[in-house]
Amino acid sequence: MLQEQIYLTLGCYGREEDKFVLCPSCSNRILLLEDSLENIEEIWAYLEAIQLLDRPMINLNAIRNTVYRMQEKYDQKFKKLWSEKDFNIIERFIHMHKPCGLYLKLEVSDNEPALDLIKVEQPIQIKAKR
Ligand SMILES: [Zn+2]
Repeated sequence: MLQEQIYLTLGCYGREEDKFVLCPSCSNRILLLEDSLENIEEIWAYLEAIQLLDRPMINLNAIRNTVYRMQEKYDQKFKKLWSEKDFNIIERFIHMHKPCGLYLKLEVSDNEPALDLIKVEQPIQIKAKR
């Protein structure tokens, strides 16, 4: 059976100039919000407080503050929430796609595997084949 999973997703709206496509719009799941995360309850409380449970966040500074704050506050035992490398990629993504318009939202999925980016130790799952 497939389990419903909720991801924190960072994406952009894409942009074009004179019908020249500069970015077709893209998004990445940057965090799987699973119960095994340290401080998961605080993380949910925080996401609720910033109203991410209600709607996507589209303000650039708010998005930036959110990821910085999460990285600052929600350490996973002796590690940061995101590894230095992954956090660097997130920062670069924000910088590169800033002109496209960005969004940060929660996404529910029941079939696709998590990205390799931002792998938080997960239990091994045995998947049923169709
Ligand atoms: Zn873009």
